[in-house]
Amino acid sequence: MSNLSVKLQVPNGKEITLPTGLFINNEFVKGNSEEKLESIDPATEQPICSVEIAAASDVDAAVQAARAAFNNPPWRDLPGEGRSKLLHKAADLMEQHLDELFAIQSMDVGKPYASSRQMEGAHLVGTLRYFAGWADKIHGQTIPVNKDKFAYTLKQPVGVCAAISPWNYPLTNSGWKLGPALATGNCIILKPSEYSPLSSLYLAKLFKEAGYPPGVVQVLNGYGKTTGEMLTTHLGIDKIAFTGSTATGRRVIQAAAVNMKKTTIEAGGKSACIIFDDADLEQAAKWAAVGGFGNAGQICSANSRILVQEGAEEKFLAIFAAVAKATKVGKPFDADTTQGPQTSKMQFDKVLGYIEDAKQLGAKLVTGGGPLRETGNSNKGYFIQPTVFSGEEVFGPAPAVTTFKTEEEASALANNSTYGLAAMIFTENIKVAHRTAARLQAGIIWVNESNNFDWKLPFGGFKQSGLGRELGQSSLEAYLEEKVVHVNC
Ligand code: NAD
Repeated sequence: MSNLSVKLQVPNGKEITLPTGLFINNEFVKGNSEEKLESIDPATEQPICSVEIAAASDVDAAVQAARAAFNNPPWRDLPGEGRSKLLHKAADLMEQHLDELFAIQSMDVGKPYASSRQMEGAHLVGTLRYFAGWADKIHGQTIPVNKDKFAYTLKQPVGVCAAISPWNYPLTNSGWKLGPALATGNCIILKPSEYSPLSSLYLAKLFKEAGYPPGVVQVLNGYGKTTGEMLTTHLGIDKIAFTGSTATGRRVIQAAAVNMKKTTIEAGGKSACIIFDDADLEQAAKWAAVGGFGNAGQICSANSRILVQEGAEEKFLAIFAAVAKATKVGKPFDADTTQGPQTSKMQFDKVLGYIEDAKQLGAKLVTGGGPLRETGNSNKGYFIQPTVFSGEEVFGPAPAVTTFKTEEEASALANNSTYGLAAMIFTENIKVAHRTAARLQAGIIWVNESNNFDWKLPFGGFKQSGLGRELGQSSLEAYLEEKVVHVNC
């Protein structure tokens, strides 16, 4: 074991060599910070390993390397076909190393390994291939002005981007930012969450293997208030793609104002799931569980508020409670686990605090409602029972169910939030579905499903859930500047 890599013993018996340095200029290097970042396995509460943290001088070095890569061949002059080929090559390598990538992520954040490797793995590879397909289709237009003049527009990369991501989807979130940034010819510095520092390091190793020139893709680990803020305030960064909480999103926008960095903000939500009384309640309960207990309830677009039309409430609650009870909470590497632990002690304490608050406020507990200590880890691990309340909202794997009478009331209740990320509608009536979808103030509406993502479709929020969109064709614009050339003939 060198001091810049570690051999990880995966609970499924495999061994993986993980680089632990900062990834600057295509090398894993020691950071100038004395401090190291320790990753704790949330299923066992045991330390996994420590990684390097970026100090201000390391951030400077990464920004300089990115600027040099951006301004010079080979990256500057690589045509779209070349960028497409490289991104496809990176996707091939991800596909070949899904076992390693997702084992590292599961150890780091506690996701069930089998299902996240399968679903998030396909999503990561699909996202990179989708954007690889766009790389040679980025172009402006020609605009006739008058008989002596025309103009044309050029779409050019913004420059040096910083991607700041949360702990709930470390690999998926990296793909959402790397894909469009690299397809459009930018350089990008990833700053993973301090609660999920490991998987991006393996990702970096694969990007180097794919043949990316030094400085194009870099990874700096560190805390938000130090490394994160050094990036958001750095004058050498041109764009920030941020995913995280609304509170941090606000700070990022303020910091970015210093040199008017372009910003994309994907922030929090309190998404409503509206279930009309004509809905297929079995399907509604199944999907509400996907969006409520999936990823241990740690999804930005989780359906944390379930609104059921009066008359259907009792039946829905009975089915939903049965689905919640059938959720298999367990260790991430057990094959039948459908819900792992909360990612960190901080998150575990926070969710249990919310559950206790809801109880104090008089919410009716339908099922669950506390920590789970019988997972074979001698009382260790940040496991929480899938929990359902009626009458009060809770964040975490604990959606709350309330009722509504009319279609108008359902939309009004759903819109009664400072957030506007997602919403779900369950009904067999196509007119009700479309009318409600049009009324809801949210960036993503799912009809008769929940939290089913697709890289071809834009993702992002209204109101305080964010600025701009990730995924889909429109996300490319966030990584491009438009230049107009006036030609007077
Ligand atoms: P967070 O806001 O605490 O941290 C997110 C990232 O920002 C981390 O990398 C952190 O280190 C960094 N950061 C913190 N303070 C910073 C600062 N002052 N300057 C620069 N960077 C800073 O969020 P979290 O707890 O890691 O993630 C959970 C949140 O993310 C939830 O609110 C969830 O809803 C949201 N989320 C949103 C989406 C979306 O697409 N809308 C997706 C996933 C998660």
